[in-house]
Amino acid sequence: MPCRVLRTSLPSVRELLRRAPKRLEVEHVTTLLSVEDPNDVAEVIQRADALRREQTGDAVSFVINRNINFTNACIKRCGFCAFSRTPRGMHKSETYYLPLEEIARRAREARDLGATEVCVQAGLPPGASADLYTRVASCIKEAVPNIHLHAFSPEEVLYGAQLRGVTTNEYLKLLRDAGVDSLPGTAAEILVQEIRDKISPGRITVSQWIRIAKEARLSAGLRMTATVMFGHVETPAHIARHLLTIRALQHEVGVFTEFVPLGFVHWEAPMCREHDPRYLAECRDGPSPAQRLLVHAVSRIVLGDCIRNIQCSWPKESPEGTIRLLQAGCNDLGGTLMNESISSAAGAKHGQVMTPREMRRIATAAGPERYLIQRDTLYNILHREPSCALDEYAGTKGNLRFGSFHELLKSNRFRFHDALRSETANGTSRNRSTWVRSRAPDAVQ
Ligand code: SF4
Repeated sequence: MPCRVLRTSLPSVRELLRRAPKRLEVEHVTTLLSVEDPNDVAEVIQRADALRREQTGDAVSFVINRNINFTNACIKRCGFCAFSRTPRGMHKSETYYLPLEEIARRAREARDLGATEVCVQAGLPPGASADLYTRVASCIKEAVPNIHLHAFSPEEVLYGAQLRGVTTNEYLKLLRDAGVDSLPGTAAEILVQEIRDKISPGRITVSQWIRIAKEARLSAGLRMTATVMFGHVETPAHIARHLLTIRALQHEVGVFTEFVPLGFVHWEAPMCREHDPRYLAECRDGPSPAQRLLVHAVSRIVLGDCIRNIQCSWPKESPEGTIRLLQAGCNDLGGTLMNESISSAAGAKHGQVMTPREMRRIATAAGPERYLIQRDTLYNILHREPSCALDEYAGTKGNLRFGSFHELLKSNRFRFHDALRSETANGTSRNRSTWVRSRAPDAVQ
């Protein structure tokens, strides 16, 4: 009898929620991510909200931090990335590179405004010197010794190791000794190789990303965050595989402090622009509102017992959308950022800084019992009544105060080619033939 077969092979949503998270296989998580019936959707979201309350309480946490994306020059050409520029491509005049003095100035300014963290990620600049990342880390730690340095994605760890000629295992220890305190778990997108080969051929592979996450924890003693990017060419089954990969990795090495679903921002993404060779006709225009809710809720259901912090990323969401996500399993708002560039470059319109005052408004709008707390990068609670100089300083003019990504593109102040010339003159850059070789998109493996 086909109906009986169907009933026994596909448990109901209620049954899956009862089993979760321990007895969920890929097809079960896929089912939860695919529900359409309004009653099923409501049940998934209510379950996620109840788990959030059980696992983290009613606090909505955030960290005061600053992003320093010190260069947009990059040897890779990921299809979703509107941030990077190729120094020899048609947009080469928009390639910037912040010198160490400017990186240190930004870190000091962040500290003076109450930041406890500086987050550093950037493109993979061609011609970089072997000590690129360790110099950036040391420079920040010299400028602000007590700041938590959350820096360098697994892709940058891989690139740095290649520049230095050492293994990633050895390189992670060098980064730690230079001052890196934890790693951002970006460059994950979807940890399914066939999807990566489509949206970012030549990018760090699934097995390399997993290896670096393990090495970070086991060899260098560093914690890391974890992310997923959704709403492009993936299916619910790919997200399900990603979530279960992260869950297994966390059980094995306990490296992750938080999980951050990132809704794809399509406006300026090369793979959504028909004139770009990276154009993918099947690419969606970002996730639907329903998919945003489900991915965050299912992340809580699948991961919350081993990664208790599920973050909603305000640069990708409207304030109203962020409130809804806090009601669907999320307990964290991420950082103030001050210089958000990646989503802004892709066409998001939610600004480059979020003040604690605005975060409090969002947190309390999610429910009368919800309240804002300030945490550090590793989720130690710092203040239950956070207030900070950033509220007054940024106000509604954050872009003017901190300088924006779009200004950097237009300004002549920090041109990449000037920085490369000066590094070459100082003998710290790699030579020209190395520069040419490292431009190949598959140079970093
Ligand atoms: S995502 Fe990172 S590696 Fe890929 S093109 Fe953008 S900056 Fe470069």
